[in-house]
Amino acid sequence: IREKPGSNFHFFSPDILTTWKNTFNMEFSLRKALKGNQFELHYQPQKDIKSGNIVGCEALLRWKHPDKGYIPPDRFIPLAEKNGMMIELGEWVLREACRQNKKWHSTGTYRGLIGVNLSARQLHQPELAEKIKNILEETGLSAEYLELEITESAAISQNNEVLNSLKQLRELGVHVSIDDFGTGYSSLKYLSIFPISKLKIDKLFMKQEVQNNQAIVKSIITMSHSMEMKVIAEGVETEEQLVFLEKENCDEVQGYYFYKPLPLQEASELFLQAQ
Ligand code: C2E
Ligand code: CA
Ligand code: CA
Ligand code: CA
Repeated sequence: IREKPGSNFHFFSPDILTTWKNTFNMEFSLRKALKGNQFELHYQPQKDIKSGNIVGCEALLRWKHPDKGYIPPDRFIPLAEKNGMMIELGEWVLREACRQNKKWHSTGTYRGLIGVNLSARQLHQPELAEKIKNILEETGLSAEYLELEITESAAISQNNEVLNSLKQLRELGVHVSIDDFGTGYSSLKYLSIFPISKLKIDKLFMKQEVQNNQAIVKSIITMSHSMEMKVIAEGVETEEQLVFLEKENCDEVQGYYFYKPLPLQEASELFLQAQ
């Protein structure tokens, strides 16, 4: 049984994953799950520190297994990356997130952006920009309300393909943020070449008792602003963390202190109330 504090995962036993590892079963199960509508998105609100308004939300994938309950993404995404299923699954996430955000916008429930995580495989598809453009057209969501979250390690590659895709996406109006910032190869050169709107400070750095974390957070905020990027802190769990981030002029916050990732119904209700 896996029980993460503050999360919605229950009664998950890792045995199925052990059996999957060396077989085709996992791909089969993922395909079946995709066909059988076993995937859902949960939405974690992001707040503007100054106004307190909800300005964005991150879509987080959950597998609602008929027998096993919610399976967290860390348990199946790495495997889906390996067997190639992640492209299909990632497309489902993108379409579902854009469709839902368009629905919220048209019903006046919510006016913010939706953040979607992109895997390394997705990012390296030559036709990525084209696919996203089609999804935006199909769902009717305006590009400025979509933010793609990429990690430093996935973005930084030898070839120029990723850079070209990101430039095309930026031209469409889509935003790109760097996820888990500070944990990968942070090269200032890449940050200035890539069309990045926002840095997401990794939750690791929220631990104020760890030496230098406050100094690291401070410098990430200063650097983001001097490069005309916004900055959001992830994994905010306490009031002290919030007070510190406010003092240091961090733009946005996301974390259990405010909201957990919420299932659709709860997210919609919250957004309506928060209007
Ligand atoms: P991530 O993109 O860094 O997402 C943030 C994770 O931190 C989420 O875990 C979220 O539930 C958790 N979190 C949020 N607030 C707090 C907090 O205050 N404290 C702590 N300790 N954790 C917090 P989750 O949902 O289990 O997702 C784990 C990872 O799985 C994500 O990390 C992301 O890398 C990946 N993932 C999730 N959905 C997708 C998806 O649709 N596509 C891809 N490619 N990856 C995804
Ligand atoms: Ca993310
Ligand atoms: Ca993150
Ligand atoms: Ca991560």
